Amino acid sequence: MAGTLESAGYTCAEDVSDADVIVYNTCSIRDKAEQKVYSAVGKQAKRKRNNMGGLKIVVAGCVAAQEGETLLRRVPELDLVLSPHHANRIDQLLEQVDQGSQVCAVEPIQIAEDIAIPRRDSDLTAWVNVIHGCNEKCTYCVVPNTRGIEQSRAPEAIRREMLALGEAGYKEVTLLGQNIDAYGRDLPGAAADGSGRRAWTFTDLLHYVHDVPGIERIRFATSHPRYFTERLVRACAELPKMCQFFHIPFQSGSDEILREMKRGYTHSRYRRIMDNIRRHMPDASISGDAIVGFPGETEEQFEETCALVREVGFDRVNTAAYSPRPSTPAALWDNQVADLIKVDRLHRLNRLVNEVAEERAQRFVGSTAQVLVEGPNPKKSDEAVGRNSQNKLVFFPGNGLQLKGKLVDVQIDYVHAYTLFGHMLT
Ligand code: SAH
Ligand code: SF4
Repeated sequence: MAGTLESAGYTCAEDVSDADVIVYNTCSIRDKAEQKVYSAVGKQAKRKRNNMGGLKIVVAGCVAAQEGETLLRRVPELDLVLSPHHANRIDQLLEQVDQGSQVCAVEPIQIAEDIAIPRRDSDLTAWVNVIHGCNEKCTYCVVPNTRGIEQSRAPEAIRREMLALGEAGYKEVTLLGQNIDAYGRDLPGAAADGSGRRAWTFTDLLHYVHDVPGIERIRFATSHPRYFTERLVRACAELPKMCQFFHIPFQSGSDEILREMKRGYTHSRYRRIMDNIRRHMPDASISGDAIVGFPGETEEQFEETCALVREVGFDRVNTAAYSPRPSTPAALWDNQVADLIKVDRLHRLNRLVNEVAEERAQRFVGSTAQVLVEGPNPKKSDEAVGRNSQNKLVFFPGNGLQLKGKLVDVQIDYVHAYTLFGHMLT
């Protein structure tokens, strides 16, 4: 959206009080994120009522998709409500606002290819969408309602965007999708090799974009265990630009809870995927997401989640207490877990996750990491910081400004759970 607005002649204000247009890009995955939006928007609406008649207030993202016109009724000072499907039309929608209408663009549509050059926060690493939406029906999740059905971008469009990034000096690309390994299911055709596979799978896409000049590293997120194939693991092990980093949410370690969540896999299938990755790439980083306190979760079932975390030895786990979401089945069940129990389980799981991550990080001590330097350490100017292939932050003495954008070898001397420290090898 920032890119589209800049191409339309808008510039970024330093301070929110100087802005003529304020865009809230919102998340509705959990209730807390949604409530933050209402309090932030409410403040600006009040300012507008009091003295800023010309101010335009925009709510974009998943809260916009979820609430639609309700948002306009709740906060009548809003000028524009637009769902993610319409994000790249924000300039045209603001023109409609200029003509005096209040606009609500939330109907799910075929997403048009971006024509504007997206603005990116870094000049080194970029995110590239490969698939929008989600076709799953996890019983806790609001995403299928807000993001709509899967829409894979054309492989040629993805490659074109990566070629432009490579030419502009970007070194690393993270390919993005809700369930990125489901890529291609909605694209027509069958593979030419007579294997019966679809014309395009995510693995085919990796082979197709892998040689883009200038791009030295490729990551991807998020993977869904149901679609994570052995073929994909092999491609990641064989293609040299692929980073050894996997984000594969598991949500729970209990087969009963996974069934209630409608995740479509079991604890042991998840373990087999992990074993597969470790067999091909013993040092790969693996991160996941987990939910505690899903309706009906017993202490024993929670313990199964803890057991999975211990067995796999994750590098990181994003944890959350279950949050009932509008229009999702599990929100209506009468076996909700008490908040106090959820919070207690969350704390216990977080403690375990940190212990496991710290233990797992020890494998790097004494090893040599290839680090893509992002610049100086913001807190210590005589140090440089970057990431290794496993997506860990690495700090080392050196001139971050001079080294920025270079791949350098760093010997790791000591580690914390989520950061590594070492010295550069010359
Ligand atoms: N498509 C990805 C995850 C997308 S949502 C997948 O299926 O793995 C990101 C994370 O938010 C999820 O992995 C889940 O852990 C968390 N999440 C989603 N809905 C939630 C809810 N209602 N309460 C708590 N956490 C939730
Ligand atoms: Fe939500 Fe499940 Fe889709 Fe992930 S796969 S976005 S958790 S519905």
